[in-house]
Amino acid sequence: MTRHILVTGASRGIGAAICEYFVASGDHVVALSRSGDAPEGCVLRMAVDVSSSEAVTEAVTRAIAAHGPVDVLVANAGITRDGLAMRMSDEQWRDVLSTNLDGAFYCARAVLASMIRHRAGRVIFMGSVSPFYGVPGQANYAAAKAGLVGLARSLAREVASRTITVNVVAPGFIDTEMTAGLGAASEDMTALIPMGHMGTTADIAGVVGFLASNHARYMTGQVIAVDGGLAMGL
Ligand code: NDP
Repeated sequence: MTRHILVTGASRGIGAAICEYFVASGDHVVALSRSGDAPEGCVLRMAVDVSSSEAVTEAVTRAIAAHGPVDVLVANAGITRDGLAMRMSDEQWRDVLSTNLDGAFYCARAVLASMIRHRAGRVIFMGSVSPFYGVPGQANYAAAKAGLVGLARSLAREVASRTITVNVVAPGFIDTEMTAGLGAASEDMTALIPMGHMGTTADIAGVVGFLASNHARYMTGQVIAVDGGLAMGL
């Protein structure tokens, strides 16, 4: 059966790999990003800033009108604005919280009514090992990603009786544009990974694909680290 998959942060990196995974599975993938770029094969692509509640509501309404109820939401859009907490500006704090946490909430809220009516659905948030491991310079990012865990677990309890699952994937250190600018710090981080190398976007897409599949139908409220062992025991 062809599923309707909505992916945010779809233009590149992990989000693009997730889109490619579901397109290859024959699903209808609706791709959202700020730029509106998306991999080949997505049935609909939209330029949407997920930190805008109105823009998200409008985009999800359009996606549902075109492709029916959303079967799987992958709330993946995220940014970093790193800096030591004592020097972090209000703007750095708010930008990260509003994209990474508010944006995920707006997307989940927008798809849930149709999932509840349909009595089925999967919500997958893109978290991080950052709040579990503790990364200096990422107070804003870690707070936002920790917030996703609370959001996921509360939602999971609210909608479990409707056969809707809500889970968090927590990547470790993945080779994308987000981590490309880290320079020497990248080698220091890699040295901490038991498996000795960064993950690929396909490593994350495969786990998202599993959570969206029938194999994961009895998993909800979980945080699944995909990190080469970095935050083992998170
Ligand atoms: P990239 O920087 O490569 O891609 C980020 C994506 O998010 C882009 O598609 C970008 O769209 C989109 N985006 C950013 N802000 C917004 C916004 N306000 N509205 C809509 N879309 C937005 O990041 P990654 O692929 O590396 O990261 C994807 C997710 O995985 C993020 O949530 C990140 O926090 C998480 N993660 C990544 C890790 C890593 O090591 N790479 C580790 C742990 C978690 P546009 O192209 O339009 O800018």
